[in-house]
Amino acid sequence: MYDYCVIGGGIVGVATARRILERRPGASLLLVEKATALAAHQTGHNSGVIHSGIYYEPGSLKARYCRRGARWTKEFAAAHGIPHRVCGKLLVATDAAEHERMLALYERSVTNGVEVERIDAAELARREPHVTGVGALYVPDTGIVDYTRVTEVLAERVRAAGGDIMLGAEITAIDENTDAVTVSGPAGTWRTRRLVVCAGLQADRMARLAGLPIALRIVPFRGEYYQLPPERSDLVRTLIYPIPDPELPFLGVHLSPTVDGGLTVGPNAVLGLAREGYRKGSLDLRDAREVLGYRGFHRVAAGNVRTGLRELRNSLFRRGYLAQCRKYCPELTLADLLPREAGIRAQAVLPDGTLAHDFLIERTPRSVHVLNAPSPAATSALPIADHIADRLDD
Ligand SMILES: Cc1cc2nc3c(=O)[nH]c(=O)nc-3n(C[C@H](O)[C@H](O)[C@H](O)COP(=O)(O)OP(=O)(O)OC[C@H]3O[C@@H](n4cnc5c(N)ncnc54)[C@H](O)[C@@H]3O)c2cc1C
Repeated sequence: MYDYCVIGGGIVGVATARRILERRPGASLLLVEKATALAAHQTGHNSGVIHSGIYYEPGSLKARYCRRGARWTKEFAAAHGIPHRVCGKLLVATDAAEHERMLALYERSVTNGVEVERIDAAELARREPHVTGVGALYVPDTGIVDYTRVTEVLAERVRAAGGDIMLGAEITAIDENTDAVTVSGPAGTWRTRRLVVCAGLQADRMARLAGLPIALRIVPFRGEYYQLPPERSDLVRTLIYPIPDPELPFLGVHLSPTVDGGLTVGPNAVLGLAREGYRKGSLDLRDAREVLGYRGFHRVAAGNVRTGLRELRNSLFRRGYLAQCRKYCPELTLADLLPREAGIRAQAVLPDGTLAHDFLIERTPRSVHVLNAPSPAATSALPIADHIADRLDD
């Protein structure tokens, strides 16, 4: 019997395993991951941004953990020689309406205690000559890192502290009783005193498997990226973001320098018909049936018809995608948009069509389930792990 078992080898699961063993040296722990590598899903398919925490509802878990997580992630990366860079971020307003929203975002950043500077069009052009806008917010603390590498180093810490990590082990049954939790799948059966489930895109299914009476469902939203050619990699020095639409949980297509010296553009947000199918047009019949038959999704779709159709059109036709980026970086051309693998976001949606914005963590007497850990959960993984490890034995 293990003292602890963690399901999910993304950054949240691995960070949690590491934190549990830091808190309880000598405890036995098993982490099981169904893929044959760690960080195989969201953690290995994202923008690699260490967010600063400007956007989020003041007081929310996201607002608190993102700020703390940004600091801890940079410290962890520095301490373990993980390449990262604090390159700063510009949020660019391209018209009067966006400028208005930019001012509201400035207020929220200040409330959230994030350092932010308002700059005008001339200053924007001076700092980033290839970017245009009527004004911008500059967030100096935002950085970039490779979250797959962070996860691998966290996993090294888990193994060094005596934890077992088993890859290629899908859990298909969870049975909790008063003494223990039994988890099992084709690779084996294990008993544990406490269970933590950090299953990302499968979070709702794992919670149901464990008998949690949850109403929400995970809706997969594809985020499609392009890579700029190497000769365009120095087009911008900072991260360049649009001003987000406050009604949507996604931040909009942005230009992101990567730690290996590249420059990516993306991601958009299109409905996914396969939770783990990365190629365009990927279809998984069970996943598609569950989304398309879900009342909560119908409500989201009905309330966002125009946005949904626009995102779909821009996914099918690169010209539309390009037009979004050219609003703030007019010299980009179709030839600049080279293929790059997409990511798929796990977005929890309630039956009334509400998108769960904040991190959502539920528990049973012996288990903790992370039900919603969308962006910025990579940035926030270390504080989320702390949160879980603190409460696990209560
Ligand atoms: C396109 C995109 C861009 C993003 N950009 C950023 C960003 O710039 N900054 C940021 O902070 N966040 C970003 N995010 C969000 C961030 O990537 C996620 O919030 C974070 O990676 C979630 O980590 P996780 O461990 O919860 O999930 P995951 O990384 O998805 O890991 C869950 C793991 O559980 C495993 N699993 C599931 N079911 C089972 C089972 N039955 N048995 C065993 N294992 C199982 C899966 O195989 C998977 O490896 C982005 C996300 C996407 C998709």
